[in-house]
Amino acid sequence: MNEQGTIFDQILAGKIPADVVYEDDFVLAFKDINPQAPIHVLFIPKVRIKTHNDIDEANMEYVNKIHLAINQYAKQIGEDKNGYRIVMNCNENGQQTVNHIHMHFLAGRQMEWPPG
Ligand code: 5GP
Repeated sequence: MNEQGTIFDQILAGKIPADVVYEDDFVLAFKDINPQAPIHVLFIPKVRIKTHNDIDEANMEYVNKIHLAINQYAKQIGEDKNGYRIVMNCNENGQQTVNHIHMHFLAGRQMEWPPG
């Protein structure tokens, strides 16, 4: 990751492949390459927002659209009633590894709380 962009910018640009499950004008969602649940999808904004700290009035529509996309996807795959977990990691203590915000969507198994 660097100031030029991240692996997710390359996915957005179509330069590297991803298993896309949802797309609209604001959001792209694709399967995580290292799934932590039977269903593990990453929802990302189509603009670079580096961390949760960088969400502001100007870009928050992208974040709102991620939540709407998640609702639509959860319903589409029939996991809305079973339930799921959404997680956004931030910076070092949050174990964020890609500096382009992404909401992890985890489903298909019983989650544990608190997380490790
Ligand atoms: P973070 O730790 O930043 O919250 O999550 C980054 C996520 O991106 C990880 O779950 C990791 O498996 C996933 N990831 C990293 N590189 C790629 C990639 O090239 N393709 C896909 N589909 N997922 C990736």
